[in-house]
Amino acid sequence: MEKRDVVIVGGGLAGLTTAKFLAEKGVDFVLLEEDKSFFKKPCGEGILPIEVEPNFFDLYGSKIGIEGEINEVVMIIGNGTLNLPITFFMMDKKKVEEEMARQIKKLGGEIRLGEKVESVDGNMVYPQNIKAKVLVGADGVRSIVRRSKRVRSPKIGIGIEGHVEELEEFEKEKAYIWFGRDIVPNGYAWAFPKKDHWNIGIGSSNVKNFRPYLERFKSRFSDIEDLRGAGIPFSLPVKTYGKDFVLVGDSASQIMTSVGAGNLTSMICGHAAAEAIFNHLEGKCSLSRYEYIWKRRLGKLFCESLMICKLAEILSRANTNLSRAMIKIMAKVFT
Ligand SMILES: Cc1cc2nc3c(=O)[nH]c(=O)nc-3n(C[C@H](O)[C@H](O)[C@H](O)COP(=O)(O)OP(=O)(O)OC[C@H]3O[C@@H](n4cnc5c(N)ncnc54)[C@H](O)[C@@H]3O)c2cc1C
Repeated sequence: MEKRDVVIVGGGLAGLTTAKFLAEKGVDFVLLEEDKSFFKKPCGEGILPIEVEPNFFDLYGSKIGIEGEINEVVMIIGNGTLNLPITFFMMDKKKVEEEMARQIKKLGGEIRLGEKVESVDGNMVYPQNIKAKVLVGADGVRSIVRRSKRVRSPKIGIGIEGHVEELEEFEKEKAYIWFGRDIVPNGYAWAFPKKDHWNIGIGSSNVKNFRPYLERFKSRFSDIEDLRGAGIPFSLPVKTYGKDFVLVGDSASQIMTSVGAGNLTSMICGHAAAEAIFNHLEGKCSLSRYEYIWKRRLGKLFCESLMICKLAEILSRANTNLSRAMIKIMAKVFT
């Protein structure tokens, strides 16, 4: 049996950020990622900035894989459009995750790829036979760590993402969102410009009635490639710590439910987790400190985001004129 101070299960942005800041503090850990390479899970690859410290570039510490800034989102509702001044970044998520892994290894941290954790008993992970003082569940929305610690599951929606090379009549410096009951109830479809293609997708918090809308989306973009899907949490965060474990990112539902955006929030929470774990191992605090830190940074945002999510769910089922009028008001208030 191997003994480590920290075992991180999952090498998405949540696990990688936790690992990076533990490595910076010289904490002994190993990160186990089931895939043999990074970024296997689908994503729109957008980073929606949040007015919270630390920001994305503080956490990432690099510009590798950052493809550009979008300053306008065109929202298409029925036959009309709304142009919203929303700013976000597009990234090549594979490059970003690979760069984070490079930084972690340079700092002396250990990452093992192709290592799926099949079961967890106490703080022992199998089949690796590693026992951790602190176990980090950064293993996504269907987290095995969360299940083993008997923390309730969040509500889980769905997102499907793929690529198209060209979208005629669409401008590469803008992002496009389709919204409304003819697109998908309780969700939206998107087209985000990438360096050499478009990232397009559709998502909803309601899995039950999703299929016919997905089929319509696929027939509209018949040249779509690399189509892949995954769950998206759509609740407020679950309990994120116990006496010897923490949950970070999608496993804890630390996501802006209004838009299904969890890239940056996962990183902010990963940073908070590393700070709390370091102090805990030094005997200075319990792991409840982690929940205290992320709540101070993101608690209000998660609550507001869920409120908007519920309102958007109602609007996505309403008639086009009402949706458009309400989104105009929401855009004024929230941008
Ligand atoms: C279609 C889609 C589009 C999205 N678009 C955006 C967007 O544009 N912007 C945005 O901010 N957010 C977006 N999101 C949400 C965002 O992708 C997630 O919130 C974010 O990736 C969460 O990061 P994470 O590290 O917590 O989880 P994940 O990225 O899911 O990483 C979890 C990792 O754990 C690994 N793992 C799981 N189980 C095990 C195991 N048993 N053993 C070992 N390893 C394991 C997985 O392989 C994975 O690498 C999107 C989500 C979907 C599904």
